[in-house]
Amino acid sequence: MRFADLGLRPELLRAVEELGYEEPTPIQAKAIPVLLAGRDLLGAAQTGTGKTASFTLPILERRAPFANRSPSPARHPTRALILAPTRELVLQVAEAVAQYGKYLPLRSTAIFGGVDFKAQVEALRQGVEIVIATPGRLLDHLEQKTVRLNQVAFLVFDEADRMLDMGFLPDIRRIVEHLPATRQTALFSATFSPAIRKLAEQWLHDPVTVEV
Ligand code: AMP
Repeated sequence: MRFADLGLRPELLRAVEELGYEEPTPIQAKAIPVLLAGRDLLGAAQTGTGKTASFTLPILERRAPFANRSPSPARHPTRALILAPTRELVLQVAEAVAQYGKYLPLRSTAIFGGVDFKAQVEALRQGVEIVIATPGRLLDHLEQKTVRLNQVAFLVFDEADRMLDMGFLPDIRRIVEHLPATRQTALFSATFSPAIRKLAEQWLHDPVTVEV
């Protein structure tokens, strides 16, 4: 399979080509069509398999409705939320979004703890379609009402097993309460423990399971 066969727009194909990717990895070949079709996904994949592109490319494909950016932040509600366990992973995913999305007029921002809150508020105020966040700091922003998630159409849990191990479940539950019930959801985890399966049952709607 080639990237060109996946149905991604030229701006994305160009970015991927510039990164030197020759063909989709197995998780990409399986997950990208499922997510582009609007289905929920339960993905078993370790880091290093190319899982980040398997959800960021569909988000970019499906959340690029505007030819140009409007100066009004209100025209750019947050449409995709990616939750990840650590600052490092959040930054890594944000970097991937920036690289793959370099030819699309979408804005994204990384939200994590241990750094200045105000700078994040400023970034959020600009109107960001894609938010990549650790649960704790995102919840702080929700409580301060400095982020709005009521128009999120696509939710990703990246490394869900690690988020559970780190005790983020209560925070994640509270975050999910702020999201519209009608949305697309993808959950990636290296392992499928009973706890992960339970979350998948609660938060995914008729998911396609993809394992690599
Ligand atoms: P990940 O598993 O998402 O952390 O990705 C691991 C590494 O593989 C990253 O450095 C990506 O840039 C790279 N990568 C992702 N997809 C591909 C691909 N289709 N071909 C070559 N490298 C890739």
